[in-house]
Amino acid sequence: MITEVDINSTPMLTPTEVLEHIWCPRFTWFMNVQHIPQHEESRYKVLKGREIHARRETENKTYLRRKIGVIDKQIGVYLASPQLRLRGIVDEVLWLRDGSLAPLDYKYTVPNERDIVFKTHQIQIRIYALLVEVVYGKKVNKGFVAYIRGKYKLYEVPVNSEHQEEIQLILDEIFATIQSERLPKRTTQKTHCIDCCYRNICV
Ligand code: SF4
Repeated sequence: MITEVDINSTPMLTPTEVLEHIWCPRFTWFMNVQHIPQHEESRYKVLKGREIHARRETENKTYLRRKIGVIDKQIGVYLASPQLRLRGIVDEVLWLRDGSLAPLDYKYTVPNERDIVFKTHQIQIRIYALLVEVVYGKKVNKGFVAYIRGKYKLYEVPVNSEHQEEIQLILDEIFATIQSERLPKRTTQKTHCIDCCYRNICV
């Protein structure tokens, strides 16, 4: 279900903002209600990732096509949907042999010890999947994450209606926070506060 929102007063969220809300709902309040920006140091990793992406993009072209049935792709695609109130740039949109589309994102990181996609990256891919489906009007059944630090590794992230509802619930919660302007509860994860850029002003 897509919530009714005031398009003039509600911002279009990026996948990063959604993830920050999951990290702590107060991020939404500080950024979108109080309009206090956070520090930008984390951009280094993103920029570094993009650099390597440019190189790997060429190196892994054949690999991708063979392994996951890619017949075409667009690189660095800006996606925006006023209906979803979401926007973002996905590293690649892939056209698959079965007629469906799939987002792919490169991460400048190593795979985790359990050899699975980090939960935050799964959510990010599912946000892109939602955007791709709405923007292109084509089915998305999966997405991909490529971990490119050290040894290159590609993972599939399944996407279904339950996943999409899960994303929509998070979006509803974010918009409710912005519209009510009420300060949300703190994160229950105390460790998240240790390095938080808002810790000095968070009551
Ligand atoms: S200090 Fe803790 S509760 Fe406050 S915004 Fe940061 S993570 Fe959330």
